[in-house]
Amino acid sequence: MDGATGFTPHGKHLIAGDWVAGGETFSSEPASGTPHEYSVGEPKHVDAACEAAEEAFWTYGWTSREDRAAFLEAIADEIEARGDRITEIGTAETGLPAARLQGERGRTTGQLRLFASHIRDGGYLDRRHDAALPDREPLPRPDLKLVQRPIGPVAVFGASNFPLAFSTAGGDTAAALAAGCPVVVKGHGAHPGTGEIVAEAILAAIESCGMPRGVFSLVQGGTLETGQRLVTHPLIKAVGFTGSFKGGKALFDLCMQRDEPIPFFGEMGSVNPMFVLPEAAKARGGEIGKGWAGSLTMGVGQFCTNPGIAVVERGEAGDAFVAAAKEALGEVSAQTMLTDGIAEAYRSGKERFGTRNAVREVLGTESEGRTASPNLYETDADAYLQDHALGEEVFGPFGLVVRVDGPEQMETLARGFEGQLTATLQMDEGDTETGRRLMPVLERKAGRILVNGFPTGVEVADAMVHGGPYPATTNFGATSVGTLSIRRFLRPVCYQNLPDALLPVDLA
Ligand code: NAP
Repeated sequence: MDGATGFTPHGKHLIAGDWVAGGETFSSEPASGTPHEYSVGEPKHVDAACEAAEEAFWTYGWTSREDRAAFLEAIADEIEARGDRITEIGTAETGLPAARLQGERGRTTGQLRLFASHIRDGGYLDRRHDAALPDREPLPRPDLKLVQRPIGPVAVFGASNFPLAFSTAGGDTAAALAAGCPVVVKGHGAHPGTGEIVAEAILAAIESCGMPRGVFSLVQGGTLETGQRLVTHPLIKAVGFTGSFKGGKALFDLCMQRDEPIPFFGEMGSVNPMFVLPEAAKARGGEIGKGWAGSLTMGVGQFCTNPGIAVVERGEAGDAFVAAAKEALGEVSAQTMLTDGIAEAYRSGKERFGTRNAVREVLGTESEGRTASPNLYETDADAYLQDHALGEEVFGPFGLVVRVDGPEQMETLARGFEGQLTATLQMDEGDTETGRRLMPVLERKAGRILVNGFPTGVEVADAMVHGGPYPATTNFGATSVGTLSIRRFLRPVCYQNLPDALLPVDLA
């Protein structure tokens, strides 16, 4: 036991039920407490994990939905049994507060249990049947049955900003295991110890449920080669990823260059524009500005749904919005970011804005080390549309206000946005016409459109879409949050004239 965390990581990979180490190590960089050494994920570790996943698929891919549901529930139970130790190492590694880690643990176990009930229900299988028409002229119709089948071993890249809900046993892993796909996780270097203890929980569930041991492996990182080997391994059939555009695009390109290209479901974040429509700005510009500041700084702004850009008219109402946002942001003190690298990227993102002529600093702050304080800038629509760099995400508590002349320019600006995870309208009754005008454009740009709220805080539910057109994601037809995310790891198979004895159990 480690006095600081109550959990001393051994730093090994979990490969097909065995803890494996040896070779080079890398050191963790916790926000507090003692750094630990972790075995670097070498090609041989990735290969062993992928081969075990393929072997496990021949059993796991044909398990009953009830058995998989019980397995998901057992993982949730095992995570809860380690609850305090997970919170302790999670807070030490990431600098996130304990309450956030506790909430995220609930979200993680809730997701696992939601997928258990989702597969028990069976609706996701989208079973279809065209009965045979032997007497049809001029040709008879065969008997056709369709069901969704698991795709095979899936690689998962955990997110730095959700060390539980989007990492080792997070949404991608839960969806893939629910579908019937074994999982190989590439551990995130920002929280390797949290990854290790969660992997320990999954292993306990594998043992208690009698699942094949290769159904889950965790290979820690340490070099870029680990992830590259994983996405190019011939036995991997799909990838779930949450992280930066640069990392996601590099791995996506590798997936496309394979002899057998595979789907890469990359969620790479976006600036999530918020449009403050004229009547809402007049009636409650200050209130919206304050709320926006709260959403921008939640979790030190380290959310892919952070509403980084606000679009508001010039004039008094818009000025009140900006003034209220500035005041509220000014009251937020410097907070610890997830990693040194993310804090450094935040500072260089801010620099990028500070050097641009068409951009005015509204609130400029300095921060050092692993901390970040809020920054607020302002520009106009013409400048924004001419300077592509202004539309790039600055990951952290960073806001840009784009001032427009009126609804027409709001629409022009909306047309100029790249693909987004979300788009938000702040509107009152008198804004309905402007809202209608924007809707067809926003529907083409974003995976989720919301009114009079803020996009941070993504509900895990049946109707949720956490996705969107490129470059927010690499796959506009998918979501990485909610029950629909299971579809990423399934493919439809049609069975023509098969006797019942040969049909998969879900069709029999
Ligand atoms: P990242 O740099 O994209 O890394 C995510 C994962 O992909 C890590 O496991 C990383 O491995 C791996 N990876 C990245 N580039 C790779 C490459 N070229 N080859 C092989 N593997 C690669 O994201 P991050 O470390 O979580 O955060 C850095 C930045 O990502 C942030 O500043 C922010 O801009 C963005 N971000 C976005 C979201 C989002 O919601 N979409 C979430 C978190 C962060 P290693 O760790 O071993 O390098």
